[in-house]
Amino acid sequence: MPLTVDPLTLGQRLVAVLEDGRRTATYKLAVLMALLDLAVESVPEDPDAAVDIDLDELTTRVIELYWRQLRPLDGHRLRQSNDGRGVIFDALARLAEDAAAGRRPPGLRAVAASHPDEYLATHLRVKRTLVRYPLKLVQNLTSGGSEERFLYDDSWMGTDSVKRIAEHGNKLTLYPGVCHTIARLAPLLKPAFQLAWVDDVRRMNKDFLSDGPDLAQHLFGADRISLQRAGDVLAEAFDPSCFYCNAAVRRSRHVDHVLPWSRVGIDGLANLVLACRGCNSSKSDRLPAPAHVTRALDRGRGTLDELAAQINWPSQYDRVVAAGHGLYLTQPINTPVWEGRSAVRALTRADISWFHDHLPL
Ligand SMILES: [Zn+2]
Repeated sequence: MPLTVDPLTLGQRLVAVLEDGRRTATYKLAVLMALLDLAVESVPEDPDAAVDIDLDELTTRVIELYWRQLRPLDGHRLRQSNDGRGVIFDALARLAEDAAAGRRPPGLRAVAASHPDEYLATHLRVKRTLVRYPLKLVQNLTSGGSEERFLYDDSWMGTDSVKRIAEHGNKLTLYPGVCHTIARLAPLLKPAFQLAWVDDVRRMNKDFLSDGPDLAQHLFGADRISLQRAGDVLAEAFDPSCFYCNAAVRRSRHVDHVLPWSRVGIDGLANLVLACRGCNSSKSDRLPAPAHVTRALDRGRGTLDELAAQINWPSQYDRVVAAGHGLYLTQPINTPVWEGRSAVRALTRADISWFHDHLPL
């Protein structure tokens, strides 16, 4: 692996995974999407550094992706493989059934709290399966499997031995330069992976899925209903007006993801604020001025954690700091950022230092 990673080559190789017409399940896509998010949150100061990705964390991200996709669509649970079976999805479906007793599956955090043993057993099972198959296969671009590895060393994978995983530090190590490069490419790659996933699910469920437009929203959109619960707590604890322009928001209250949902998918309370309709739609998927993010975090980690715990909701303070750091550090200086309705300004170096100073250890 050369020390300097060519973004174009790496991007082409990742896109080649999407073009592999032999996909029989969505697991490779899940692994890649989880890696994208973790790369953004793990961007090193030195762009050429190798970066460790904790396999438990990666597993949690994959579980989170599938968890929301367990919700039935038109009364059907969606298949995630050609035959509708698979170790990971089956294990998660069982966990959801145990926890929900026939009702709508509760949030993952609530399940981990109410069924800790089942949750941990499922988590371990998913991790072992990821190491055995998709993590081993994702860099296999040719059927011969002789392709050069371009993300991480997978020579020890293909096993589900817990001992073997522990011997390798329970982690994978992204090659020098790869983390930084993936994080830079993430805004381009993430929508492409999501589109491929939507196509796969449509194909795997074509017997009942007409081409309704809401499949992408169902698979990847923010859960608006649950978000309103977070909005209630925010309105009570903080100023109930628009976080960005201070307008009153009584009737048209929007719960806004400060770091855009489409970019980093962080639903935790630390990333949520109330916004008026105008600001919410003007901001949309654009990268906000860093001052908005720091102001949201300045509401206080302790306060946010406590409020989140009251409604069994994640807070994810550290994730917001890490993702903000990664997002801003990988943007060119002078990138336009959203400051307010019809107010855009240029990103500066100084904007990034706050995130650097507050990074979780
Ligand atoms: Zn506003």
